[in-house]
Amino acid sequence: MSLPIEKPLSDDLSREVARRRTFAIISHPDAGKTTLTEKLLLYSGAVHLAGAVQARSHQRAAKSDWMELEQARGISITSTALQFDYQGVRVNLLDTPGHQDFSEDTYRTLMAVDSAVMVLDSAKGIEPQTKKLFAVCRKRNIPIMTFINKMDQPGRYPFDLLEEIEQTLGMTAVPFNWPIGEGAGFQGLYDLQEPQVLFFQRTLHNQRRAPMRVETFPHPSLAETLGEAYGPLQEEIALLTGAGTKFDRDRFLAGQLTPVFFGSALTNFGVEPFLNAFLHLAPPPGPRRSSEGLVPPTESKFSGFVFKIQANMDPQHRDRMAFLRIVSGRFEKDMMVYHARLDRKIRMTRPHRLFGRDRETIEEAYPGDVVGLVNPGLFIIGDTLCSGSPLSFDAIPQFPPECFGVLRSQDLTKQKQFQKGLQQLEEEGVMQVFYSPDHVRREPVLAAVGELQFDVVASRLESEYGVKTLVERMSFVLARWVSGDPDALAGIYWPQDTRRLVDREGRMVMLFGSERLLAYCMKEYPALKFQLREEMGASNSASPIS
Ligand code: GDP
Repeated sequence: MSLPIEKPLSDDLSREVARRRTFAIISHPDAGKTTLTEKLLLYSGAVHLAGAVQARSHQRAAKSDWMELEQARGISITSTALQFDYQGVRVNLLDTPGHQDFSEDTYRTLMAVDSAVMVLDSAKGIEPQTKKLFAVCRKRNIPIMTFINKMDQPGRYPFDLLEEIEQTLGMTAVPFNWPIGEGAGFQGLYDLQEPQVLFFQRTLHNQRRAPMRVETFPHPSLAETLGEAYGPLQEEIALLTGAGTKFDRDRFLAGQLTPVFFGSALTNFGVEPFLNAFLHLAPPPGPRRSSEGLVPPTESKFSGFVFKIQANMDPQHRDRMAFLRIVSGRFEKDMMVYHARLDRKIRMTRPHRLFGRDRETIEEAYPGDVVGLVNPGLFIIGDTLCSGSPLSFDAIPQFPPECFGVLRSQDLTKQKQFQKGLQQLEEEGVMQVFYSPDHVRREPVLAAVGELQFDVVASRLESEYGVKTLVERMSFVLARWVSGDPDALAGIYWPQDTRRLVDREGRMVMLFGSERLLAYCMKEYPALKFQLREEMGASNSASPIS
């Protein structure tokens, strides 16, 4: 009798890696990221059509927009993760906040993806926040696909939009489809790959029209169907197919070339072809740099890193979730892993699959997946977990804070909740907290990348920890960790418009009212070091709690 032959693990692992796509959508606020996210979820069957779409027209109800403040303000503040299956592919979509005040959260999320989708408003093109987020993608050479949205409305000339992508972002833009007509006269898309025409139906009641194959121009029946829009289309297609740049997969994977798709997320047009192309073009999880060299996803030993911590995602659970991106190997519930920063082994109990604010326990996960770990104070952003020989992944960079404010508790009886809330929000990376050297812990000074983060702190302290607070803005614009000979430091007379504080670990931090003032102090005291936090080494985020 022969025993059944078990398939080697590496086969399963390679197959699972090959069918993963982990990406984020980046856009300037209002370009249509939330709408596109929702439509992608609709196609995958992850949310149901009628409910989601109708609810959304009355309020912000996309699954990924879950915090109270987000709903009240209609902006996406914290990023979350959505996992769904589509045509045999397991897609991990990491949602990112569009508002610039939350760039840091977006930045961390972009460290955990393998590709990005850039959504542009066809009437606006590249906007300031698009540029900022693109710069982050560029640093990591993340491949980007572009979706030019709102084609149902008047927009800019498509060739201008392509040129703007090339000029402003320095990336070759290669259209995969092309709009026919514009605004009220928008009739559909010419699919340059197939090639065929997809017809736009302005009202939902109209029957969807079958695509028309159009391989050669002139095409009399298409001319009849399109009317006035036919002439320009024929010329534009001739231009694109003649002199147009060809798609080059290697340049796309290196982040140097972006495939461009036109469509309208709101009216559901062009979204399905985009999703299909995305699954085909976007890369599966790749190798990642670590202290021990490149770690390929098919390495049998498990490894991953924490890129986000979020407290109180679910008001019913009131716990903290660490978002772990798996880099290599197979993750299993209850496995023992090495925690590099704590230098000890821990058990992976209660891993979760996340879907916006919903969660369910999972038994296993693979590279590219994001696992939610309920965090009893064990993790901070940037932590590496692995089985096998110890390693740690590159640190997650931080944005230097530009806004500062004193946080005052209005409820002096609730000191304990106040301190707990403050510490947990700092661990999430919502803001940094400094203290006056003489009144330790009395009047914390908050440091944030954007002012809206102060609103988030105040709102969350009240709703999650029951403490009313006020933030009083300070006029400082930058902070530096200052170190040097203690005697020299003690004798320094700091000019006006500076403030001396300490961080949670007792290290000296100076706030400055202007760049010029910092430059003056650096010149005046050349023996001292003025550093950004990420230059300090040590911990990557708030100190861990016991
Ligand atoms: P986000 O801030 O990038 O997430 O943008 P949203 O998805 O919330 O969209 C911003 C606004 O643009 C909303 O009012 C949407 O209904 C609208 N919108 C999104 N996509 C389209 C589109 O394809 N056409 C039109 N006309 N409006 C759209």
